[in-house]
Amino acid sequence: MARSDKRASLDPHDVAEHAGSWVGRVPVSAFERLAPLIGKPDAEVEVELTFEPDGNGLVRVSGVVCVDAVLECQRCLEDVSQKIVADLDLRLTVSEKKLTELMPALDVMVIDAGPIPIVEIVEDDLIMSIPARVCATELDCPNAPRALSLGADVDEDDTSRPFAGLRALKNLNREEC
Ligand SMILES: [Zn+2]
Repeated sequence: MARSDKRASLDPHDVAEHAGSWVGRVPVSAFERLAPLIGKPDAEVEVELTFEPDGNGLVRVSGVVCVDAVLECQRCLEDVSQKIVADLDLRLTVSEKKLTELMPALDVMVIDAGPIPIVEIVEDDLIMSIPARVCATELDCPNAPRALSLGADVDEDDTSRPFAGLRALKNLNREEC
């Protein structure tokens, strides 16, 4: 379980024949496209995959892949720690024909025959699992300036209320609607 292997690879067809699995870690530095997106160069991707033959002669790969990331919130531009989790359920094949037959009903990836890197199997799903918004709503943004949080009681006098003018402006806009 302690292994962290940059070059971890396997032959999916071989492993599937024995309904095998691969559990381990891959350093994020091995992921050329993912690494620059997650803001944590020393992170490790945790991988738990099982391989089995599916009814169509393809290899079914399923499991979970996750990595700790530090993402920049587009609202407050602060870094927010976030775990990226990807649920995988895809089919591997060496045949382009199978790909066109089965897509888009199934998630199919065309691979070269023989061993392929774990990175190749999981990178796309990890990238697609990066949330577009780090803070789901404005209220949940942990770094939102306090004065902007809705419903906050403001009982200070005007001199300590830099957003008092803004609030007045907001009310004005509302009346226009
Ligand atoms: Zn934020």
